[in-house]
Amino acid sequence: AAKQGGGSRHVLYEARMESDARDQVELQADLRSAVARGEFELHYQPKVNSQRRRIGSVEALLRWHHPTRGSIPPNVFIPMAERFGLIGAIGDWVVDEACRQIAAWADQGLRMRVAINVSPHQLRQGNLVERIEAALARHAVDPAQLMCEITESAAMEDVSETQRAFDGLARAGVFLSIDDFGTGYSSLSYLRQLPARQLKIDRSFIQDLETSGDARAVVDAVIRLSHALGLRVVAEGVETAGQSEILIDLACDELQGYFFAKPMSADALVGWARGERPRGTVDFSP
Ligand code: C2E
Ligand code: MG
Ligand code: MG
Ligand code: MG
Repeated sequence: AAKQGGGSRHVLYEARMESDARDQVELQADLRSAVARGEFELHYQPKVNSQRRRIGSVEALLRWHHPTRGSIPPNVFIPMAERFGLIGAIGDWVVDEACRQIAAWADQGLRMRVAINVSPHQLRQGNLVERIEAALARHAVDPAQLMCEITESAAMEDVSETQRAFDGLARAGVFLSIDDFGTGYSSLSYLRQLPARQLKIDRSFIQDLETSGDARAVVDAVIRLSHALGLRVVAEGVETAGQSEILIDLACDELQGYFFAKPMSADALVGWARGERPRGTVDFSP
């Protein structure tokens, strides 16, 4: 009986793999046409300046509204896009849309720096700098209003390629940020060479801040070291008042997380920046 049970489980498993595979093929085809069909949207999450307690800039986070499956998270479709060679087109859309939004907000009297996420494949494109410069020019946006976030582990994948891309972007006047710091294994001497302005401490360290002395020691050390290297520090994934207070004590420059605001539409962000904050978030008006 045990053997039979195992056998049927096996059949079930194969059936699931098959439907998963069919799913993947379908999703891949859908992803291919998603840009043209206008199914992508950028949401924006504030990075709050911990000194002035005001919104300093926002991170753009990509959303895919699938016509039948609803919203599909970037952790699912970004890796697919990378695998299927679609990240170039999607990345181009993100750059253009972020620049368009910066210009649209400026027309509404809101000057906002926007950080976009750049994937390892985009870094390897070779003409990333030219593509970004073209989008900035198309929308007449000051390069200093755009920031590129690149994860520490992506930056470590190909050191010379990263160095080249960072140098090119910095020369173009675009700000650079090292994302998810603490999850990769970068050497300090390498980080020192990159013309980054900002370092974002990974959410996993922030999560443990209130309960773990070790996490607190690591965050303290990363902030001191970053400041010594001239980098501003952002804490990502701040969810509680306690975490926020510790980070302010440790002189963290900017705080980002659900405690302040979840990622929101461009329109909602205008309201948020003007002080119409939803209940439950801290009032940061001066
Ligand atoms: P990330 O760049 O590290 O972005 C932070 C993620 O944490 C976002 O998830 C954000 O919604 C989430 N988050 C923010 N605050 C909190 C919090 O307090 N608690 C928790 N639990 N989560 C919080 P999201 O939007 O699902 O994006 C996931 C990842 O997908 C991003 O991680 C980024 O690596 C990637 N991604 C998103 N948009 C793009 C894009 O346009 N291009 C590329 N290449 N990657 C993107
Ligand atoms: Mg990011
Ligand atoms: Mg991050
Ligand atoms: Mg992350």
